[in-house]
Amino acid sequence: MNKLFTFVFRITALCDKACEACCNGQQKAIHIPTQLFLKKLDDIRLFTEAKKVQPIIGLTGGEPFLYVDPRNRSHIGLLVHCILERIPSAEILIRTSGWEAHPILDDRLASLFNKIPKNQLNISLGFNLFQKKGIGASKRFKHMLSLLLAHQDRVIFDVIYNRLNVEKTIDLIEAGLADFNFQYQGIRTHILSQPSTPHRFTSRHREKAKQIIIEAYPAYNAYQQGNQAHFFDENVSCGVCHEIKTGPTQLFYREDLSLYHCNDPFLDSRISPIEKERFLSVSDEVNAMRDRLVRLRQLFFDQQLTFKNKQMRCAFCTRFMMRGRADVINPLTE
Ligand code: SF4
Ligand code: SF4
Repeated sequence: MNKLFTFVFRITALCDKACEACCNGQQKAIHIPTQLFLKKLDDIRLFTEAKKVQPIIGLTGGEPFLYVDPRNRSHIGLLVHCILERIPSAEILIRTSGWEAHPILDDRLASLFNKIPKNQLNISLGFNLFQKKGIGASKRFKHMLSLLLAHQDRVIFDVIYNRLNVEKTIDLIEAGLADFNFQYQGIRTHILSQPSTPHRFTSRHREKAKQIIIEAYPAYNAYQQGNQAHFFDENVSCGVCHEIKTGPTQLFYREDLSLYHCNDPFLDSRISPIEKERFLSVSDEVNAMRDRLVRLRQLFFDQQLTFKNKQMRCAFCTRFMMRGRADVINPLTE
């Protein structure tokens, strides 16, 4: 099997959820320009064919189902159609934060499933009680569960929580899953016994041919917008991550096609991404990221770097990867 390479596009910054401690930081109606997106897809096809890698295209936001092309009012369906037209072998992953029953959005989602082969599309749900301050959370969870289970054999939920809402989050998910006959075991004990572990806790739930995968971890108070006392401390020190060890395996484009090396939620987005003008092609982007990752890996290895927590490690990494070695003066003071 060919190696996988993931290209994630934040297709819109627009989002209706207004979470405390949002990692997006702007939530404005800024959408990816279609022509730039198409050009990038052509370049991705050239790169993946030349390197014989299997392309995965991720669409995220903001809320990706709120993406609108300002010129012709087309929506996410057109972008997905363009991906498969240009890169027929692509696997498409979409991450939504969901909605309560809504005829337009329900229709957008259903029409994707009607047009795309089942094995090439997976939609996952980011769910938590920060979204809309928890208003409508139960209805939204059940609505999205019924939509996604109707079309997918495997549904992935990302769940985050803080000290204030951890119990309520678990109660709500348990009740939601019970409505669909899923047994919900293990995760309550795990989360409540180790609520602050920053590593994802994955639990799998099966019901006949359907599977639900829940990935739960404590919320990250990215820019200290929320009351820090409400958030769990990240008390686990950490060193090199999988991407630094083995990457580059991914590129992350924002709406203006500026580039980050990684799409982890701990990436420090206060540090500006690299502008698209700095690169000639996708191949050039991958080579630049590889060059920086090799030097970063060496730095971790030579200096046996460890950080107090994941937030600090990723802030250091983001600075190094976005600005290069020059202005990272003394990583050990992090
Ligand atoms: S769902 Fe995501 S993008 Fe939307 S407000 Fe919440 S964290 Fe921000
Ligand atoms: S930002 Fe964090 S997760 Fe991403 S490559 Fe850097 S250290 Fe790893």
